[in-house]
Amino acid sequence: MAGTEGGRLVSLGETGLEGSVTAGIEGSDAWWRRMPRFARWCRESFAEPLLSVLFPPRCVGCGDFESHLCDACRATLSEIGEGSCPRCGEPGPRALVAGRCSHCMSTEMSYAGARSAFRHQGVARRLVTEFKFGGQPVLGRLMADLARPAFAGQALSIGLPHELLVTWVPSHRAVQRQRGYNQAEVLARALAARAGQLPIAGLVRKAMLTRHQ
Ligand SMILES: [Zn+2]
Ligand SMILES: [Zn+2]
Repeated sequence: MAGTEGGRLVSLGETGLEGSVTAGIEGSDAWWRRMPRFARWCRESFAEPLLSVLFPPRCVGCGDFESHLCDACRATLSEIGEGSCPRCGEPGPRALVAGRCSHCMSTEMSYAGARSAFRHQGVARRLVTEFKFGGQPVLGRLMADLARPAFAGQALSIGLPHELLVTWVPSHRAVQRQRGYNQAEVLARALAARAGQLPIAGLVRKAMLTRHQ
């Protein structure tokens, strides 16, 4: 996709939503670029429905059958509302000095702002763990539904929809081969779709294997 020079970049981390600035990308619809889309379509259209019949969904919080997150466990999620630090995302209310809170005052960052939807504790922590390590990419769509308001708010604070481009933190090829998916990409695609079909593209390549977080 061309024409994003000077636009704003919304980057999806592994467990949170981070905003950064300025991205330009080269694009192509070459067949080899479309193969991951085909594989994703096969997985979402056939593999996941079949697996849900063979292995009915269970709540990640309490283990109840019928859904991936029951209402009671969903109600325990601790939402990070307004008032968090717009720079580092630390839950608020945070007093700011020159746009920095006490948590990020002395830290330099390579992005303009970060935001998480929920505190990383309890059911939210289990959801992230199951999504990353439990072989359940379907949880990405559930998490996107939960995080959509926070994501939309953060995205609109960065720029207008036509100025935005969504991307994700990549996984190393060896890790992605083993896991079968990159959870940040799954989440980014689901959130971009829910935020009004924002344009999305993989812009970053991981060159070195890093430790799991
Ligand atoms: Zn539950
Ligand atoms: Zn801060």
